[in-house]
Amino acid sequence: MRKNIVAGNWKMNKNLQEGIALAKELNEALIADKPNCDVVICTPFIHLASVTPIVDSAIIGVGAENCADKVSGAYTGEVSAEMVASTGAQYVILGHSERRSYYGETVEILEEKVKLALANNLTPIFCIGEVLEERQAEKQNEVVAAQLASVFTLSAEDFGKIVLAYEPVWAIGTGLTATPEQAQDIHAYIRSLIAEKYGQEVADNCSILYGGSCKPSNAKELFAKPDVDGGLIGGAALKVSDFKGIIDAFK
Ligand code: PEP
Repeated sequence: MRKNIVAGNWKMNKNLQEGIALAKELNEALIADKPNCDVVICTPFIHLASVTPIVDSAIIGVGAENCADKVSGAYTGEVSAEMVASTGAQYVILGHSERRSYYGETVEILEEKVKLALANNLTPIFCIGEVLEERQAEKQNEVVAAQLASVFTLSAEDFGKIVLAYEPVWAIGTGLTATPEQAQDIHAYIRSLIAEKYGQEVADNCSILYGGSCKPSNAKELFAKPDVDGGLIGGAALKVSDFKGIIDAFK
């Protein structure tokens, strides 16, 4: 069956020393009080090699927030999936709305990134979600269906290795959260698309996380929905008490 996962996305926050301190504090808190779900922290690239050895890998997975759409070579400033994997990281967030909107990441670019991540044994946490105008026009289903094109060219075996995150863009960092019913409706729709494409078993085994202003006070209600398998957490992942409060929603 699918896993419940709480994954943090640190974004461009915390310098190296602060990031190491945050990872250590989280590690200690989760060793003292073991989580009932998988926990992942996705950090800036420069933190990865320092953070992976200091967390207990049986409790906390580590991931990047992006990787290049090319294997290697003259791509100044880029970081390849192979480089990410060489730090000991096991995950990579791909298709985050901030990458799509600020850095022009398209369905095709993301398809390449997902394939390279999988080729390097990284688990992509693949993000999809609509902007406010699309939600207001009730186009959210069409939008997520189109975004899934990046991962619907995978074999069923490879698709089975990815994690999805539904993140309505209007809820990211805004304090607005999708209601548990809104989250459930679209998660169920996403799962129905997976079932159509790959069959019910693959759909049932796919973890679909919710992201967008998730906090300790709303996590339990969101995660209680049958098709919501955890969360991708931005702001609240930067403070151990908040992140752990969300993780504890599974207790
Ligand atoms: C995110 O950026 O993936 C996110 C969900 O952010 P926040 O929790 O801050 O809304």
